[in-house]
Amino acid sequence: LQSRRVIAFAALILPAVITLLAQAPGERPAGGLTVVSREGRRSLPTRSVGGQEMTSLADLAAMFELAVHEDALADGLTVSTGGRSIILTPGQPLASVGGRLVSLPAAPLREGRTWLVPVEFINRALALISPTRLELRRDSRLVIAGDLRVPRVAVRHDAAGAEVRLTIDVSPRTAYTMAQERGRLLVRFDADLLDPRVPAFEPGLLVEALSAEAPATLAVRLGPGFSGYRVSEAAAQGNAARLVLDVLSATINVPAPERPVAERPPPEAAATPPSLDPQPPTSVRTIVIDPGHGGEDHGAKSASGATEKQVVLSVARRLRATIESRLGIRTLLTRDADVAVGLDERTAVANNNKADVFLSLHAGASVLPTVAGATVFSISLAAYGAAAQQLAAAGVPELPVFGGGSRPIEIIQWDLAQARHAERSALLAALVEEQLRSRVPMSQRPIIEAPLRVLVGANMAAVLIELGSLTNAVEAQRLAGDAYQTALVQALHEAVVRFRDRLDASRDSGGGQGRPIAGAKPVEAR
Ligand SMILES: [Zn+2]
Repeated sequence: LQSRRVIAFAALILPAVITLLAQAPGERPAGGLTVVSREGRRSLPTRSVGGQEMTSLADLAAMFELAVHEDALADGLTVSTGGRSIILTPGQPLASVGGRLVSLPAAPLREGRTWLVPVEFINRALALISPTRLELRRDSRLVIAGDLRVPRVAVRHDAAGAEVRLTIDVSPRTAYTMAQERGRLLVRFDADLLDPRVPAFEPGLLVEALSAEAPATLAVRLGPGFSGYRVSEAAAQGNAARLVLDVLSATINVPAPERPVAERPPPEAAATPPSLDPQPPTSVRTIVIDPGHGGEDHGAKSASGATEKQVVLSVARRLRATIESRLGIRTLLTRDADVAVGLDERTAVANNNKADVFLSLHAGASVLPTVAGATVFSISLAAYGAAAQQLAAAGVPELPVFGGGSRPIEIIQWDLAQARHAERSALLAALVEEQLRSRVPMSQRPIIEAPLRVLVGANMAAVLIELGSLTNAVEAQRLAGDAYQTALVQALHEAVVRFRDRLDASRDSGGGQGRPIAGAKPVEAR
């Protein structure tokens, strides 16, 4: 659990108005890089010396407020900013950054009164001492300075028969909205700027042109044959997202029958089938598993060195393999590597992929080393209704666990997505608990209802499972072991099967899905 995180009801800080020019990064003065920041864009001249792209320290100094000192006696160059320094030695393709040596593709070269350094100096050395974030994207000819969100957006254009499919890879995953306006489809990303890769293609009857527009919009100019579109999300690697935008022709009826789609090569990952049926064949088509923690956030740690982030990733991967192979249900992980992922981002993966089930896995609940056993958390409307919202409005950053305990809990007041699914989440929690109980020891309070931040924004049935406690020595040893993980995976798999069967049965008997619960704020199914 995120027990160490203290919640911040940080005020929403409105981003400063960005005055970036409506110019794609590709349109730059030849032989230069474009530096983008909240202040705007500037060009950083570069030139090729012996096949190596170099830029001048004088230009860098002016742009990033660096002090450059040349020490003739020591035959060294010192580049400083914010009280930190880099030492360069003429003739050596190296930089010393706070005593650590980093390699450069070429040595600094004197040119008149200044020095030329390879452009890689920016990310390999300067970024390490700069008080503001610096990122060189050499292939995009960009240097990003500061906290700008500049997702890479790569578009593939496939024309097949009377349809055009645009496959849009967005990295990192970025929220977006779609709009259709005056003969154009606009994909507006929640970002400051796009770093686009837009292919060249012959203008067609459906799609005439693609362009990136300021601040962060991908525009599709539609041709006379256009009649409609559908957008879906396909599985993507790591922290990326893949949108599949099918532009449909007036000559085909919408909904379209299964047609040339099958004849063209699909994107590497299977696209989500367009949901044209009013009644999908089953209630559970996509599951998102969320291995907690990751990156520098290790979560709980056992005395023997096992970390929560490793244990939950291992269980998550095995669970994915089991569910996919036995049930054929599309199963995604919020992280498939040892990387940090924000709490809201985890929920966003589930929401953006229209998951039907969200399982967040942890293994380190207890602050008391003697407490052990598995615990299942779900949200309850009653629990986070009036009381939680009053506290949130009063700015009280911590809440006791409902039903006992005093762990700090993150709650959010502005997003009640989970409220619509509270009943189904409670059912899922009960089924998970039942299956775990028959295989592994449970904690004294095996089901707890609490408004956990990672669950609150989830727009589907969602539970958080503490698989056990790594702080308990006996349990830590079990948790790291194969047999115990297998038991956990079997329990979770079986719970998913039962949950699916229950939903399918209630749907077939006329039970409604997504029925709003009285009192809950309606949530747009974006
Ligand atoms: Zn945890």
